[in-house]
Amino acid sequence: MSNKLPNILLSSEIDFPSILVGDHLALDFTNTIAAPKGELIEWIGTGVDLLEWLFIVKVISSSERVLISSKWSSNDIDEVAREAREMREWFREIIVRIKDHGRGALMLSDIEKMNDLLSLEKIERYIEPGKNGEQIQLEARRLWNEPRELLVPIVSSMAELLAEGDLDLIRECKNEICTLWFYDRTKGHRRMWCSPTMCGNRAKVAAFRERQRIDLSDS
Ligand SMILES: [Zn+2]
Repeated sequence: MSNKLPNILLSSEIDFPSILVGDHLALDFTNTIAAPKGELIEWIGTGVDLLEWLFIVKVISSSERVLISSKWSSNDIDEVAREAREMREWFREIIVRIKDHGRGALMLSDIEKMNDLLSLEKIERYIEPGKNGEQIQLEARRLWNEPRELLVPIVSSMAELLAEGDLDLIRECKNEICTLWFYDRTKGHRRMWCSPTMCGNRAKVAAFRERQRIDLSDS
């Protein structure tokens, strides 16, 4: 999806905050294009946007963001953002398909693509002394050897959801015109809306109007 399409606004241009209603990284990422106010907004339109989003969802630290921005050209990071947008639409299509037809509907080409992306993971493990000097902590950090490693935390989350997530709890907001996805972690698993204040309220208002309309036509 090109960020030059006239009908898509870039979140950075209109300063619209990220929508984080997914309760799962992979679904928050799926929600990085949406139309909460009617017009389509793209949160991953550029490489800078992608880094901002990864920082907001705590996938990269502020020092990692600085390191990454100084290490690679903006063209390189823009290219990763383009691939991330493509990956997002591929994943959205997979989610819809396996919700409808079960995990057996996952194609070999999907599995191969996901495994190719997962193989980009480069993590270095190291030990360091603990605070009191008596303990030793085992830590891990990403190496950030190449720009495409930025896709790995997102694709790992997608893979985890596909492998271990409960398909019934992966839901699209019940408002028909809303495209937001979430993972229902509520106790009774009755969550219906992306957010009670956005679509939940709209639905209540619509139901109220409908009741009034029926009352008026009755009288
Ligand atoms: Zn919604």
